[in-house]
Amino acid sequence: MRRSEAKPSRAAVEAPDSAVEQRAPGRWQIATVTSIRTETPTVKSFRLELPMWMAHCPGQHYDVRLTAPDGYRAQRSYSVASSPLDQGEIELTIDRLADGEVSPYFHDVVVEGDEVEVRGPFASYFVWRGERPALLVGGGSGVVPLMSMLRHRRRTSPDSPMRLVYSVRSAADVIYADELGEEAVLTFTREPPHGWSGHRGRIDAALIADGAPQAAAVFICGSNGFVESASRLALEAGVAPDRIRTERFGPTG
Ligand SMILES: Cc1cc2nc3c(=O)[nH]c(=O)nc-3n(C[C@H](O)[C@H](O)[C@H](O)COP(=O)(O)OP(=O)(O)OC[C@H]3O[C@@H](n4cnc5c(N)ncnc54)[C@H](O)[C@@H]3O)c2cc1C
Repeated sequence: MRRSEAKPSRAAVEAPDSAVEQRAPGRWQIATVTSIRTETPTVKSFRLELPMWMAHCPGQHYDVRLTAPDGYRAQRSYSVASSPLDQGEIELTIDRLADGEVSPYFHDVVVEGDEVEVRGPFASYFVWRGERPALLVGGGSGVVPLMSMLRHRRRTSPDSPMRLVYSVRSAADVIYADELGEEAVLTFTREPPHGWSGHRGRIDAALIADGAPQAAAVFICGSNGFVESASRLALEAGVAPDRIRTERFGPTG
């Protein structure tokens, strides 16, 4: 697919038959990109206005579909970063993979006012339903669904204990840098900011153990390798398996 040819197809979106169907998450709909924010050199956040919006649970994702003029389609999943209180819109935060098909299209082609085809929200497992305390563990763009949880908690139950452990390569790679408050503990795997006295290197037992045993739910999201090792650390810290929920962003093959 030539990236410039990838356009959502209006024909694929039929008019809803009833109010119930209108809200069904399985239906494709055409969303409008209302704003684009650069988060890091490789990550951008896209605000989408949805004609058939329905409230998501923090942690859920949408499917995005691109259709080329010859009918070729590419479909990927993207977590919602915004709170469900943002009525009528969702925010998707997309990391640009240099050799990717869909993420470079969003970064290099999509501009404000463009239309993209989406459906959702999906997933009933990796969702925060108000469990407290909650421990969130994210690696790289794995912080996206966790940000939805943080944002929602701040607006609905700020007293509910929630802690984010966030692993990033360098200061330049921190997504939502302006929004990370005192709930967040960062660790830098490559280049910490100048004068950094906090954690360095990969997430380790100490970072997970601080908060994990008390957590009613532990949410872990990132690449396959990140999720494997963080889950193992959580289990070793004494967290019961049924309190650990994971989401993997890695390649599906
Ligand atoms: C439930 C779910 C939620 C997701 N949420 C987000 C999100 O919020 N933000 C986000 O940026 N991504 C998210 N992803 C990943 C996203 O769906 C795509 O896989 C990613 O954007 C790559 O798509 P692409 O078309 O650009 O690359 P592709 O054309 O699919 O792949 C290009 C190359 O990169 C490899 N690759 C594919 N995906 C990844 C990956 N995630 N990490 C490293 N290498 C990869 C492939 O093996 C291939 O070599 C999510 C995935 C899932 C399953």
